[in-house]
Amino acid sequence: MRKKKILFLLSDTGGGHRASAMAISEGVAALYPGQYETVIEDVWKRHMPFPINRFPDTYGWITGPGMPLWALMWKLTYYRKMQHLIFSGVAPLVKNSVTPYLRRQQPDLVVCVHPLMNHLGLQWLQSAQLDVPFITVVTDMVTVHSSWICPEVDRCLVSTEKARDLALQLGMPKEKLAVHGQPVSLKFNEIDSDKQKNRQQLGINPDKPTILIVGGGEGTGQIYRIARSIAETIPYGQLLVVTGRNQRLKARMEAVSWEIPTHIYGFVDNMPELMGAADLLVTKAGPGTISEAFIAGLPLILSGYIRGQEAGNVAYVKEHQAGAYAGTTRGLTALARDWLDVNNPILQELARNASCLARPNASLDIAADICKLI
Ligand code: UDP
Repeated sequence: MRKKKILFLLSDTGGGHRASAMAISEGVAALYPGQYETVIEDVWKRHMPFPINRFPDTYGWITGPGMPLWALMWKLTYYRKMQHLIFSGVAPLVKNSVTPYLRRQQPDLVVCVHPLMNHLGLQWLQSAQLDVPFITVVTDMVTVHSSWICPEVDRCLVSTEKARDLALQLGMPKEKLAVHGQPVSLKFNEIDSDKQKNRQQLGINPDKPTILIVGGGEGTGQIYRIARSIAETIPYGQLLVVTGRNQRLKARMEAVSWEIPTHIYGFVDNMPELMGAADLLVTKAGPGTISEAFIAGLPLILSGYIRGQEAGNVAYVKEHQAGAYAGTTRGLTALARDWLDVNNPILQELARNASCLARPNASLDIAADICKLI
């Protein structure tokens, strides 16, 4: 029997979109072994004409040093009229390159996990003459950009009640909406609660308080400065630093002689192991990383956020007391030192609160929901 094919549309801006697609794919394989084939495609990079296919390469810069420009773009494109103008300008340029790909793939279901391919995605399906269900899985946790919400899709799955309210306001019919949580790899459910054992398995000192620093898939934020400050002020700790795809940052970190044990990684595929080994996570407010930390029961210090889509995540973490936001490196380090004090019970409290927000079955629930449509 031919396996049914699920095609995920995304662009690799940051690490979250691909991680979400992979997590849902894992969910599908776990619930329906051998029944579905899943294809995850960076449509933007692989099927759009030059120079449009190069836009995602600027994401690391524009959400880092170019943030004011990003914030302006985010606001301007929030207006439906502006979006319509952009999408109708881009659509004819990209139609001829994406449509043949969709015709070749002949998916039975299309899942979009990126804000820019919902309106366009429906147009591509139409021009490829594919009459199959189209689903949006919104991977922004709270502050959903309006481009995610295309009321004509068959189903729209969001992470939180706040995102659902926003989707309703933006015109998504109620019956198409469901809240399942952020799709996160099922591997996070397997994290052992014995941190010493996890540290031993990772090959690091099992007895030292461990701080994990992450800046999303692109390794953005003040990672270098934060790591230096922690190394100088928490002499009894150790650091795990994930630089993601930011190779310059990795090289810069590796050139330093560190005051405390500091393990520097590039783009990792063992985030569950790293989170399982850590007592505290310092990260920008990426929805994927935050949701993973909730499952790992890991307290968070948010060191920054991408203006626009990540602003709501900061408020969400603070409101539920799963962590705090520290706007300065000095404040962040002071907070980390205070929380890691053995006499301070706050770390356990924060860990408990983080666990309460966990949606460990989100990928399975999303998988069950989307497969119902085939
Ligand atoms: N990630 C990873 N390896 C890395 C860095 C990040 O697997 O070296 C994953 C991380 O676990 C999360 C995603 O990439 O699933 C990052 O998503 P998030 O929403 O936090 O931020 P983004 O990179 O999309 O801005």
